[in-house]
Amino acid sequence: MTKKICVLPGDGIGPEIMAEAVRVLEALDLGFEMETALLGGCAVDATGDPYPEATQKLAQEADAVLLGAVGGPKWDSLPREQRPERGLLGIRKQLNLFANLRPAILYPELANASSLKPEVVAGLDILIVRELTGDIYFGQPRGIEVRDGERFGFNTMHYSESEIRRIGRVAFEAARKRNKKVCSVDKMNVLECTQLWRDVMNELAPEYPDVELTHMLVDNAAMQLVRAPKQFDVLVTGNMFGDILSDEAAMLTGSIGMLPSASLDANNKGLYEPSHGSAPDIAGKGVANPLATILSAAMMLRYTFNMEAAAQKVEGAVKKVLAQGYRTGDIFEPGTTKVGTRQMGDAVLAALAL
Ligand code: NAD
Repeated sequence: MTKKICVLPGDGIGPEIMAEAVRVLEALDLGFEMETALLGGCAVDATGDPYPEATQKLAQEADAVLLGAVGGPKWDSLPREQRPERGLLGIRKQLNLFANLRPAILYPELANASSLKPEVVAGLDILIVRELTGDIYFGQPRGIEVRDGERFGFNTMHYSESEIRRIGRVAFEAARKRNKKVCSVDKMNVLECTQLWRDVMNELAPEYPDVELTHMLVDNAAMQLVRAPKQFDVLVTGNMFGDILSDEAAMLTGSIGMLPSASLDANNKGLYEPSHGSAPDIAGKGVANPLATILSAAMMLRYTFNMEAAAQKVEGAVKKVLAQGYRTGDIFEPGTTKVGTRQMGDAVLAALAL
């Protein structure tokens, strides 16, 4: 059966970086059917809706969604319902994407881009698995009300064991495709909810005897990520801790144009997108770094289509172009060769053919 990819270039640099990712997928010749649709500001301009029905239909029937980025100053003053970000939230919700996977990889050639010492981060390769649909961000009751004559704010942290189990499985399965280590992050010394988190992770572990499970309190995890980040392979945690730790891990690499991400549902259908935004300041100039989007396509091959060899081929090609010295402006250093978006895509295609 033909595998269908819904391609959503979006706004700003989205169409430029997506064109390169699509060229890479086409060059691999894996028989994908790719269909493009509108999401974000471009969809508002064309239809008045940031997530139009035609896009919803395509996204639901496709096996995977590859997204560029949405948003920009042009749409910032629109009513909330019409903002491009609404399209993004809408598609994430509709597709039931509960698992967010964000690798933080620092290629040795880019070690100077990090604010940490090169020896601490060079060769870093970790994966943060964040639960995306539960936790204190969605828990009820919540609100701000007046109690005893003063304002009182409250939220509720909760997880059911089935929610913990399903994100735990994603982490264990991902570790099996990597270095077979999972570190589960919680705050079990203070929060009962995360005591349950730890218990359920421990209950799952015997099903994955080939994967080593360890636990860490979130405050220590935040410290360890900047002290000795290379000790981690897969880090799994809840929505709020994951929100914070995944941004911290991303910044270890120092180069936003290099970071892919995946959000998966229970059947490994996924939405794949670079971690950066639509970069309106450089849109249309042909200078954006397409590598985060190309690496997102590699994640799609790995997690939705189970094509590990093809994923590694793409990642290997990216490593090669960095070793060859090609750099877009965002990762440029003296002594390397500055290229634009299309030339970077050309270099990846050439490296794929080697
Ligand atoms: P941004 O990530 O778009 O840009 C931050 C800085 O990084 C800019 O200087 C930009 O030029 C640079 N940059 C980002 N990606 C790059 C790339 N691939 N190559 C080279 N340089 C790159 O964040 P922002 O400026 O805060 O947001 C701009 C717009 O993007 C806003 O409308 C925001 O809402 C939207 N946004 C969208 C998403 C998404 O679609 N998932 C995520 C974040 C922000």
